[in-house]
Amino acid sequence: MSPVNLLDFDLDGLAAHCQTLGEKRFRAVQLFRWIHQKGAADFGQMSDLAKSLRDKLAGSAVIRPLALLSEQASTDGTIKWLFDVGNGDAVETVFIPEDDRGTLCVSSQAGCAVGCRFCSTGHQGFSRNLSTGEIVAQLWFAEHHLRQRLGLAAGERAISNVVMMGMGEPLQNYAALVPALRTMLDDHGYGLSRRRVTVSTSGVVPMIDRLREDCPVALAVSLHAPNDALRDQLVPLNRKYPLAELLQACRRYLASAPRDFITFEYCMLDGVNDGPEQARELIALVHGPRAEQRVPCKLNLIPFNPFPASGLRRSPRERVMAFARQLQEAGIVTTVRKTRGDDIDAACGQLAGEVQDRTRVHKRMTRPVIRIEPSTQDLT
Ligand code: SAH
Ligand code: SF4
Repeated sequence: MSPVNLLDFDLDGLAAHCQTLGEKRFRAVQLFRWIHQKGAADFGQMSDLAKSLRDKLAGSAVIRPLALLSEQASTDGTIKWLFDVGNGDAVETVFIPEDDRGTLCVSSQAGCAVGCRFCSTGHQGFSRNLSTGEIVAQLWFAEHHLRQRLGLAAGERAISNVVMMGMGEPLQNYAALVPALRTMLDDHGYGLSRRRVTVSTSGVVPMIDRLREDCPVALAVSLHAPNDALRDQLVPLNRKYPLAELLQACRRYLASAPRDFITFEYCMLDGVNDGPEQARELIALVHGPRAEQRVPCKLNLIPFNPFPASGLRRSPRERVMAFARQLQEAGIVTTVRKTRGDDIDAACGQLAGEVQDRTRVHKRMTRPVIRIEPSTQDLT
């Protein structure tokens, strides 16, 4: 029988596993702390753990790291790691240091089945879901590697924020995602605040509702278009869960969310979704026809990071700023995302990794996107 990967368990899962070995919950807590707080990979290191348990684990369990294929460091401090997840698939994890925080961008799948037009991962097609252990291993590796690399003192943390914004659609890998989130949040694990763990989704409506009940964390929703006709083209999942349903799910989520707003992500595509008319539509969409239908939100405009196969261009900076101003004047808090790690292709949507098992998703990519020519107003 292949050994159990202990990174697959949240604390309750580990306690249940320990129970099958005849061990009490407090032993699972000790073990969990060794793994996640101290970064131990070897049962021999776990000095305060009963020798009998260490022996049982040595024969039946492992703490399985991901195989590191490469590391690239950007001049701005961003670090991108590429991990081999077997069968020719590889996924990427990105560390983004800022003055007051360290953010880790984590992947949830090898490839992605949603197939957004502007996303390099989407263009690859879908290979497979990552396991909980493979999701957690990205944080486990990065946190303990960075503590050493940055020479942090005991008790200091390298990573304060996690965003599920790497490769994949996290809410299409829900069963593996939730225990991974719980491990991130657990005080015996990484002890991250719910407000500092963000799930980003292209809009899997039923799973937004489940996440609200099972493990509410900060939510980012990838909007990218202010109406169904355009969003159907850019984010094909919209055909299944159109905007009205998605916004209702956002409103329901806010009832139990750790933050009192949803972050809407909007990738700025030259001549596609970046004109003043789209800004007006977007304002009307989030404000809703009636006050009670308003979605409290922040808008995060992401300058498109081009890649050759997309056939799309980044909106000019003036157009992004004009779009942002229009939203701000309507009372919507709007930020323009700084591009980080550009020189190492670590920016949003550039995470391509490698996936072998290509699906038919790429065939859809050959259809033309509706193009909306910028009006002369945009060019002034
Ligand atoms: N699948 C999830 C999370 C991963 S993508 C989602 O779609 O939300 C993280 C963010 O990067 C999303 O908002 C996504 O739309 C955006 N993104 C994807 N490709 C991009 C690109 N080429 N340039 C800029 N942002 C991109
Ligand atoms: Fe998948 Fe998100 Fe990329 Fe869309 S933007 S293809 S949902 S990873």
